[in-house]
Amino acid sequence: MTYVIFDLCIRDGACVDVCPVDCIVPGIPEAEWPWYYIDPDTCIDCGACVPECPVDAILPEEDLPAAQVYTTELNARYFSAGPGYAALASK
Ligand code: SF4
Ligand code: SF4
Repeated sequence: MTYVIFDLCIRDGACVDVCPVDCIVPGIPEAEWPWYYIDPDTCIDCGACVPECPVDAILPEEDLPAAQVYTTELNARYFSAGPGYAALASK
């Protein structure tokens, strides 16, 4: 299981500071990766990020609406193939 950020994200970064395992990172370049993303291999499913999000853009993967299920793979791919944690160096 993992929590997933989906396409309502407005990139304000509010979720980042509360994550106890620092597995939420901004997408870069923004034109290609327009949200923040959660590393599914590191997320410990604590749920602390959910109430911080002003636009309700974070859910456990099993609670995603059908139209947002594809974002589970997007979050994972950002770390397996995209910039992943290298994005933190550009902040
Ligand atoms: S559920 Fe917890 S561990 Fe997972 S991204 Fe949110 S704050 Fe981090
Ligand atoms: S708190 Fe919500 S809107 Fe802000 S970066 Fe995190 S997921 Fe995106």
